[in-house]
Amino acid sequence: MKSVRSVYIHSNDSKVTRATLPVLREKLLAAGIEILPDPKQRPDMMICVGGDGTFLRLLRYQNFPDVPVVGINTGHLGFFQEFMHDELDLCIKCISEGDYSLQSHRPLRVRVWQKNQSMITYYGINDIVVRKNASSIVHLKINIDRSFVEKFSGDGVLISSPAGSTAYNYSVGGAIVDPRVEVLQLAPIAPMNTASYRSFTSSVLLPPDNTITIYPEYKFIDKMLVIVDGAEYQMTNMEKLQVDLADRRIRVVRRSEYDFWTNVKEKFF
Ligand code: NAP
Ligand code: MN
Repeated sequence: MKSVRSVYIHSNDSKVTRATLPVLREKLLAAGIEILPDPKQRPDMMICVGGDGTFLRLLRYQNFPDVPVVGINTGHLGFFQEFMHDELDLCIKCISEGDYSLQSHRPLRVRVWQKNQSMITYYGINDIVVRKNASSIVHLKINIDRSFVEKFSGDGVLISSPAGSTAYNYSVGGAIVDPRVEVLQLAPIAPMNTASYRSFTSSVLLPPDNTITIYPEYKFIDKMLVIVDGAEYQMTNMEKLQVDLADRRIRVVRRSEYDFWTNVKEKFF
């Protein structure tokens, strides 16, 4: 892999992060790696200091760049964060010597149509939740490509990428997906199954070229909430929402010997 000569640093504001940053800067400079103040200067790599939430925000702020991102975990779960904050020397050695691997992920693209407004596009690396902004149930008509599949009734639905399969998707009973398998996963959140309502109770896996289209039942359209990687967007008169895999990739820096299932085991059990 490319030996890194310049970086941009993005971080959260936690206590551990604040203690880590000056040490990181000093070690980078000692290794001859330039720290660029602006990501537009095209650094060889971005360094993300924080937890997964910090990583998700970096991608959102930088519009899902193709520049590799290396994560330094300062205390949370850190599924995307390859190095711990006490492994700075190892991290710098790996990136400066080009001794690392890259894990690539295709973000999800979500497009929303609201009455009398232009279409809005968001990108997310983990997941998209469609639900109501209140506690009562929601009814959603769900199409996969051109086929109408079901009228879902329940709390809402969650669409995840393989990268997000270990996050909210796993909590709602969805399958963990090795990111080398390209799929879209649609999981129900508290689906209702009574004599009056029928919804899928398991998640479904779809090929990467499929598009999921969701139409909220008309009486709910002014009360829909769309959550992309944890960021909430309140919709007004949402008529239609579509999710597919974006035509781009982000790249996560991993150790050379990285193994997906070892990471799953270490973070979950
Ligand atoms: P948060 O509330 O701190 O996130 C919840 C937890 O999910 C954190 O421990 C976070 O790790 C972890 N996480 C994030 N992405 C992950 C991934 N791809 N695989 C495994 N774990 C992951 O909020 P946040 O940090 O901004 O993360 C947003 C994500 O939270 C959403 O995309 C959604 O998937 C998830 N979420 C989960 C639930 C649930 O499980 N019931 C509910 C709402 C949202 P860190 O501690 O390192 O940040
Ligand atoms: Mn978090």
